[in-house]
Amino acid sequence: GLKLVLSQDITERERADTMRRDFVANVSHEIRTPLTVLSGFIETLASLPLTEVERKRVVDLMMQQAERMQGLVADLLTLAQIEGSPRPASDRWTRVDQLLQRVETDAAGLSRDRHVLQFDIETNGGACEIAGVESEWLSAMGNLVSNAIRYTPDGGEIAVRWTLQPEGGAVFSVRDSGIGIAPEHIPRLTERFYRVDGSRSRETGGTGLGLSIVKHVVQRHGGELRITSEAGKGSTFTLTVPAARVRMR
Ligand code: ADP
Repeated sequence: GLKLVLSQDITERERADTMRRDFVANVSHEIRTPLTVLSGFIETLASLPLTEVERKRVVDLMMQQAERMQGLVADLLTLAQIEGSPRPASDRWTRVDQLLQRVETDAAGLSRDRHVLQFDIETNGGACEIAGVESEWLSAMGNLVSNAIRYTPDGGEIAVRWTLQPEGGAVFSVRDSGIGIAPEHIPRLTERFYRVDGSRSRETGGTGLGLSIVKHVVQRHGGELRITSEAGKGSTFTLTVPAARVRMR
């Protein structure tokens, strides 16, 4: 009865509190680490006589840490924005040809010819649209592609596909021949700051927030994120996009 409901409420609130505390602790840790490294470099610059070459090396490393913090703040803002707006506007549509063109351009920029990139995209002469705003979809799809690039060694293959479903809706998938993910990690990948290998993720510029952003965007639009992977072989991330339409001209 009432007592049960109350105790459920309390556990619910306790869980939310714990989650918030964990989140703040995680964010603090993620910011403190690059800050500590940066302070160390500043001290080096200030106190040691360095050659021009050494000085340049230190400044490059400082830049990397600053970029890491910028990436983290950008991802945090994206998450806050998405979580803060309860439902996507139902009257906003995104043109798939423009969206996927951006995804492709960004992918080429990130890979810089280090991978074999394959795009298999049919957008019905530019007439295809999906429900939602472009920035959110770009963030979701862009995160999947940048992960594929970051977790695939040079020379590997990355295949991006867009398929309209005959029964309506569409599917966006990114398949890579990268390092893959052991099965026990897969269910936890979309948790904020969850990483299989923290050092590798950070080295490649990861914030640990990418897949939680992807999941949020997709769920808000009534779609799904599916992950299949084999350690050492590669992974496939698939987004289903329920509301797609082909605009009549
Ligand atoms: P990160 O910024 O660390 O990449 P994400 O939330 O995007 O954070 O991904 C969470 C973790 O999932 C990563 O740290 C990595 O261990 C794993 N992961 C994501 N995408 C891939 C992929 N394509 N191949 C292998 N592992 C991946």
